[in-house]
Amino acid sequence: MAGATDAPPAQPPLRVVLLGPPGAGKGTQATWMARDHGLVKISTGDILREAVAHGTRLGRQIQSRIEAGNLVGDSTMVEIVQDRLALDDAKKGYVLDGFPRTTPQARALDAMIAGEGLLTILLIEVPFEELVRRLQARRVCGRCGRNADPGLAEGIRCSRCGGSYVTRVDDSDGVVRQRLTVYLEETQPLVDYYDGRATFYRINGNLAPAAVTAQVRQALATSRALALEGGASRDGLAS
Ligand code: AMP
Repeated sequence: MAGATDAPPAQPPLRVVLLGPPGAGKGTQATWMARDHGLVKISTGDILREAVAHGTRLGRQIQSRIEAGNLVGDSTMVEIVQDRLALDDAKKGYVLDGFPRTTPQARALDAMIAGEGLLTILLIEVPFEELVRRLQARRVCGRCGRNADPGLAEGIRCSRCGGSYVTRVDDSDGVVRQRLTVYLEETQPLVDYYDGRATFYRINGNLAPAAVTAQVRQALATSRALALEGGASRDGLAS
């Protein structure tokens, strides 16, 4: 009978925050991470767009803010994420795409997961001119919201649900600039909030997706090793 000491150490669940401006590729990386690491992808933008699409009470309340490129209120967002993290599937680990976006949201997240272990923070950095170019070229499925592959020919339909590709309302010219301004004012301060933690990583997002993924993979491996050692500095802990 194999002794308990022969068993490989249990992998602590990964809890990942993806930080970065709109258009940095957070959604693409989150999808990859979810698949490769068995994490639940939690995109607050997707949750909100779904509420708008279904015309729920929340959807009706927030629609104009989203379409204008402004943030939804902190208390609404914290409640949404708290409820989502309480679901069973989140116990195996998750990647948060689009949350936190303000310092109060980051503080609330720390409080939510206090004592549960490490939070890994990945900041994806991309020059602003490149973000504007990417956002204006982006097409999403009008039915299921999935991002289309870049450079897709006109008339091609979504490979998941067969819906037509459209431009997201908030990817139009003026709204893109507003979203980038909001990012600088509200979300950029989170870099200072997290910088200095043992599990904060800067990722160069101005590369092909596979090269970005390679950096992400390396960061997650380092983070996992720290979690296994239990050797991360107290600042890296979600407390
Ligand atoms: P995204 O798909 O992450 O770019 O989010 C689309 C829009 O949803 C944002 O421009 C905001 O209006 C809203 N949103 C998503 N996540 C948050 C959040 N954490 N806090 C406030 N508003 C959010």
